[in-house]
Amino acid sequence: MPTTYEMRPAIWADIRPEQWQDWHWQQQNRLRSVEALEAVVALSDAERAAFAASSEAFRVAITPHYATLMEASCDPAGPTRCPIRLQALPHPGELVEYAFELDDPLAEEAHMPVPGITHRYPDRVLFYASHNCPMYCRHCTRKRKVSDPTTAASRTQIAQGLDYIRRTKTVRDVLVSGGDPLTLSDARLGEILHGLREIEHVEVIRLGTRNPVTLPQRITPEFCEMLRGVRPLYLHTHFNHPRELGEDAARALRMLLDAGCVLGNQMVLLKGVNDDPETVLELNRKLLIHGCRPYYMLQCDMARGITHFRTPLSTGLRIVEYLRGRIGGMGIPDFVVDLPGGGGKIELSPDYIIDRKPCEIEGVIGEQITFQNWAGETFEFVDLADSSS
Ligand code: SF4
Repeated sequence: MPTTYEMRPAIWADIRPEQWQDWHWQQQNRLRSVEALEAVVALSDAERAAFAASSEAFRVAITPHYATLMEASCDPAGPTRCPIRLQALPHPGELVEYAFELDDPLAEEAHMPVPGITHRYPDRVLFYASHNCPMYCRHCTRKRKVSDPTTAASRTQIAQGLDYIRRTKTVRDVLVSGGDPLTLSDARLGEILHGLREIEHVEVIRLGTRNPVTLPQRITPEFCEMLRGVRPLYLHTHFNHPRELGEDAARALRMLLDAGCVLGNQMVLLKGVNDDPETVLELNRKLLIHGCRPYYMLQCDMARGITHFRTPLSTGLRIVEYLRGRIGGMGIPDFVVDLPGGGGKIELSPDYIIDRKPCEIEGVIGEQITFQNWAGETFEFVDLADSSS
């Protein structure tokens, strides 16, 4: 597979490989305006209009790496079908408002005992380390604060968060997230992770990041060395389409594995991007090749301005059904709906039971259940009655 450096658009022809590989260079050269974007890809009239209308509400920033993955041409008259462009470029749908949309669909702000910590389940907290990201994904569920520099986590806030976790002995599992915590320096993120590792009752540390997708150059040997000092670390990343997992991302995943991270992927189901079973199958096969387990397939939330990305629940169920039988269980993520209002995650799965009737066989009382497998074949199973009831 070629690297994005090898595929880079003409505008970056003079950039040396070490510059391209430098994550600071990638950050500094992010595409933020229509003019900058048009030097890299052709925009349709609809994309240009959507940019003008919605980039104020939610900023645009696209790393040269991620921009290189976009289809350079477009249908000037029609909507884009490129899964990378759909995630990175503003869409007219962002400005259409619906009464059911919510600013904070998961009620994360309502469950904050101290600023920057969401504590909903007794044993787990979500710790916001930064509200910046290398790229602002158009489907982001935290649009209310991500990309807004006035909401960034200060040093004091981070210290308060660590202090809250230290004195809350029920917390065993901490997910460090954002925004993207990898926008912090190694030293600053290292302070947070080491601080958590020193708390005796914190047994599990997780890191949520989309950097392996949008800025894989951020995964440096120095960064991995820092992670090695806090292992084991569960790192959740966010690949949504197989095209995102090219040579650069694969290298980043290899380095994270070598540093002792346990890798999982949280895909969001997005209309036009990955809402067909073959795309998810291809993505999940690639993820497993690179040591990253498909962990969740998340139903797109009811966040404001992202309804155009949403799919019916039946789409997710159809995808799970398709995966079964075509990839081992490790490649089948939990299809999850994060309930609005802070209800938490629930898992949906296809119903494989097509009939059930009471039965008694040689004195054993139970139910005869008819299952239908992934290939449409039916099988009888005798389920025993619960003898304790
Ligand atoms: S990386 Fe995550 S937090 Fe940042 S914009 Fe994308 S979805 Fe939102």
